Amino acid sequence: MSVSPEKRPLVAVAALGGTISMVPGDGEDHAVPRLTAADLLGDLGENLEMDVRAETLAGISSASMDFATLIRTRDWAARAVDEGAEGVVVIQGTDTLEETAYFFELTWASEAPIVVTGAMRNPSLPSADGAGNILAALTVAADPRGRGRGSLVAFNDDVHAGRWVRKTHSSHVEAFSSAPAGPLALVSEGLVHYFHPAAARPAALPLENADFSGLVPIVESGVEDTGELLETLVKAGVKGVVLAANGAGHVSAGSADVIERALAEVPIVVAGRTGAGPTFRGTYGFRGSESDLIAMGATMAGWLDPRKSRLLLHTLLATGASRERVEAEFRLRGDLA
Ligand code: GLU
Repeated sequence: MSVSPEKRPLVAVAALGGTISMVPGDGEDHAVPRLTAADLLGDLGENLEMDVRAETLAGISSASMDFATLIRTRDWAARAVDEGAEGVVVIQGTDTLEETAYFFELTWASEAPIVVTGAMRNPSLPSADGAGNILAALTVAADPRGRGRGSLVAFNDDVHAGRWVRKTHSSHVEAFSSAPAGPLALVSEGLVHYFHPAAARPAALPLENADFSGLVPIVESGVEDTGELLETLVKAGVKGVVLAANGAGHVSAGSADVIERALAEVPIVVAGRTGAGPTFRGTYGFRGSESDLIAMGATMAGWLDPRKSRLLLHTLLATGASRERVEAEFRLRGDLA
């Protein structure tokens, strides 16, 4: 959709670092973050029917992303919208991009879209994908049909929902997938083609007085799962635990005994480690099955994968959520029904 010249939208762009901003210095072999938001945009915005305001908020590898940077970026984006931006683009490394997008999905209260992007090939490589991804993200952010869709990821001309997106490849430019849900839209010839109208979203989680200190680890199940790691972590004082459980939410019988004791101390969320499909609620009854874990008081993650579950649980615990609230939020955000 083209925007009429008298109504040029303003898009605010934040750069946080990542491969997209990394080049080797003179005589150096390896790429490190160097480029600012202005460097990344170059003259990209000049021929677009929008005004672009860009700021460099960080210059990190996304492996070093933390809640402080996420909150600072979210607050910066909210201010930009208050000051008139129609949409926001956040540029960062791809390694934790899905977590940034999901954190925004949980905490972004505005109707304006917040669009996250990055690149798989740094600007010194042939066929670098950064400029194309930024162009797609700007196009999505400026389009009024992005309103009410929360957090989006524009990558390789696909548009993904922050609710579903995952990084599924370590090197291809087609590195993100929303499987099994599929992308929300694609960008083609400078236009955004949405496949469906915007769906209703749960209310944003408030972050007033949030305290993200303390650990909320993911513990993966599998062969020789004795539950000892979980026991050690709970004794060490973690705030809560996400289990990357087998299949539809199953753990070993030994782990189940530990979980039963640990639930007296901390909330435990059971997510599936497969990368696709929901946790079950009532199919199996063996020790460590989903129905056994539910009966003990564990919370099932539904469709949320362990990474997204960790972000949701940590954010809820940071704001003092009760066990009941944790259960209710996971039912709301993790289940389709
Ligand atoms: N592959 C990553 C990227 O695309 C490495 C660096 C990072 O995540 O910051 O940005």
